[in-house]
Amino acid sequence: MQDIKELSLGELEEKLLSWGKPKYHARQIFSWIYQKGSYDFNSMSDLPAALRGILADEFYVLGLSLADLKKSADGTVKFLFELNDANLIEAVNIPTAKRATGCISSQAGCKFACEFCASGLKGFKRNLTSGEILDEVLYLKNNLKDAQLTHIVFMGTGEPLDNYDNLLKAIRIINSADAFNIGARRITISTCGVIPGIKRLQEEDLQVELSISLHAADDNLRSRIMPVNRKYPLGDLIKCCQEYVERTNRQITFEYILARDLNSDYSAAQKLVALLKNLRLAKVNLIPANPIPKSKIIPPSESEVRLFKDYLFKAGLNVTLRKERGQDINAACGQLRLKYEQD
Ligand code: SAH
Repeated sequence: MQDIKELSLGELEEKLLSWGKPKYHARQIFSWIYQKGSYDFNSMSDLPAALRGILADEFYVLGLSLADLKKSADGTVKFLFELNDANLIEAVNIPTAKRATGCISSQAGCKFACEFCASGLKGFKRNLTSGEILDEVLYLKNNLKDAQLTHIVFMGTGEPLDNYDNLLKAIRIINSADAFNIGARRITISTCGVIPGIKRLQEEDLQVELSISLHAADDNLRSRIMPVNRKYPLGDLIKCCQEYVERTNRQITFEYILARDLNSDYSAAQKLVALLKNLRLAKVNLIPANPIPKSKIIPPSESEVRLFKDYLFKAGLNVTLRKERGQDINAACGQLRLKYEQD
């Protein structure tokens, strides 16, 4: 049995033609799965019964199952999913008044071992298939009560640009008017700075948003807390971002976790300004760190956060402060999976 969501619309049309069936059924099937949220071919009532039977013999729709679920007082819902090989992944629904953002994992585990992030603590398991990435989106969409799933951020477990082909294949279906129909500008890829992936992305005909997890503006510190910096140091990364902005004319958001006694003092702010001040269309998103087990990472005081933000603002940077959501349910960054695997 194969995951039908691994097929693009064109591939599904080909499949139908190979069975001697009209290809327009592909659009109907897409609509049943991605728009009406059906997991069961037999419920796809406008398809001929014979075709429904063939589909059910060859394919399945949903490849994961729910292993745990946590609801936050602020409406955030975190899902822990079990894949068909028993690996665990997380995805989070973050609703606000009019919209809902789905935070999606791209890999089971993570090989990048950033010091402040819980996702890497158990090492890397494997890439997710495009169908598994779409499973997460489908599940989140079908489990929203009052809101529409309007935004997708690849800020769950794993490094999206380290699973490039499967990521892009899934994003094209998330974006497609025949499927989820979520605008590319509402889809954010977050990377720890995998330069070859950023270079590929700038050549795609897709207006997706790019976030870079920066977290330190000098190479010594960044290499210590984000080992990926040893391979792709800041000078190369910023040059690559410059090229990306010139080529696409799109903004890049730099995510910067603020952690006490690490990267949140005056000199760190100065370095951050120096690093980004000549980069057109750069935005900084400050995130007070979430403490994670077995690490010294804790957030600075509110006044330190405000000082840091004001310094960047006065220096002319476009800066925002992220509101933390779902803290009461370990919603941030691999923490639910971690808790689960430790229990
Ligand atoms: N590998 C990708 C996607 C993972 S999302 C990347 O590195 O961008 C990474 C983001 O998770 C970070 O930028 C940060 O926004 C968030 N994050 C990870 N650990 C955190 C922590 N302890 N506190 C707050 N945010 C954290």
